[in-house]
Amino acid sequence: MEKNDKLEKVTSWAKRRGFIFQSSEIYGGLGGVYDFGPYGIALKNNIKKLWWKTFVEGREDVVGIESSILMSRKVWQASGHEGGFNDELVECKKCNQRFKADDMPEGKCIKGGEHELTEPKAFNGMFKTYVGVNQDESAQTYLRPETAQGMFCDFKQVMEVSRKKLPFGIAQMGKCFRNEINTKDFLFRVREFEIAEIEYFIKPGEDEKAFDMWLEAWEKFVLLVGLKKENLRHYDHPKEGLSHYSKRTLDIQYNYPFGWKELTGLANRTDFDLKSHAEASGKDLQYFDAETNEKYFPFVVEPTLGVDRLVLAVILEAFEELEPRTETTEAATEKEIVLHFPASLAPVKVAVLPLIKKLSTDARKIYDDLKTCWPVEFDESGSIGRRYRRQDEIGTPYCVTVDFDTIEKDQCVTVRDRDTMKQERIKISELKNFLFDKLGSF
Ligand code: ATP
Repeated sequence: MEKNDKLEKVTSWAKRRGFIFQSSEIYGGLGGVYDFGPYGIALKNNIKKLWWKTFVEGREDVVGIESSILMSRKVWQASGHEGGFNDELVECKKCNQRFKADDMPEGKCIKGGEHELTEPKAFNGMFKTYVGVNQDESAQTYLRPETAQGMFCDFKQVMEVSRKKLPFGIAQMGKCFRNEINTKDFLFRVREFEIAEIEYFIKPGEDEKAFDMWLEAWEKFVLLVGLKKENLRHYDHPKEGLSHYSKRTLDIQYNYPFGWKELTGLANRTDFDLKSHAEASGKDLQYFDAETNEKYFPFVVEPTLGVDRLVLAVILEAFEELEPRTETTEAATEKEIVLHFPASLAPVKVAVLPLIKKLSTDARKIYDDLKTCWPVEFDESGSIGRRYRRQDEIGTPYCVTVDFDTIEKDQCVTVRDRDTMKQERIKISELKNFLFDKLGSF
């Protein structure tokens, strides 16, 4: 499959199967904004749950918070975003299209020849809004373009209530908004997206060790959600190109169909953020180290993850188009699509399928029972082959088929494996345990 062909296929599959589609579609859509349908949100929530479990519930040195999307404008002034969260905008004098100067699309101007570009000018990527009834400068603020500032502003408060000592981290996941000049590549570059990140506070001098520790933990996580090692690589930003606050920035790139691109990043933000907020707010944001009797601004290592970019990578990794695997159904001439999601991420874990409608009452009893343990679907419409295909396409790991023998003979069902298509007869009384071994609890 051609690489970009794969992105197109994935995009149309995502819409057809109700995973992800354009926002405001009935009005022609809104550029760079997507909605997650029933299966899409289940997949995304499973990824987020796993992240929270791994990094917040699974660690003693990290606590979770949810800070707000709207914050005082002063936050964005102190952080440097109001003055400096800029992209370089250029415009073609012939076709009037606007581009991000360092990310020009390939190809010629639609009016013919090369684009004729204006000098770059700074374009601030934050969405402006107003708080309260006065719609003037005094009431202006922004939708947050990152979650980090909430964690810096809450640092003292959170440290005190959670009775933590350094090193410790604050984690959160949440929506961010960036008015990107050019949105593209499906979920990769959008205007509304989620970030999952940790601000890890350490004693100055311990930052490099913490950076390496988080790089390892971050990489382990992206492998855990099913990305292959060969599709991941590091990009260490050269010192000259670093943001003013950063001592080191490293991206973990993923091999997307449109090239190796940043999936997640790690930054050593030094003590820049706490110092800036202390200075601007007049509040003491230093840490008192009881062991050494010193007061200092902690350094911060920040591992950050774009949830939507990860959802896209997980889908690309799981998506497979195959020649027909079965010869017995009327669908046998069509290509098959299978989503090989890890079971922990699959939106639906099990589908219960009565062979024919007459068996529905008995099959429903099994469905009702399994539903107490996992997200399960019941499907009685269409041929059994079609129903298997439907479940393969949404990545359901197991299908349970109820047939005449189930009722009349052996009290067994057929359990079909999505990836191997292997079928096993399992006693109804042992079904839950069988599935529990394969799926774990949800
Ligand atoms: P890029 O260079 O690709 O614009 P960035 O370096 O500005 O990204 P960060 O500010 O580090 O990104 O944002 C943290 C994470 O948020 C990134 O690692 C990425 O996964 C995600 N992200 C950033 N911008 C977008 C976007 N427009 N759409 C989707 N995810 C994004």
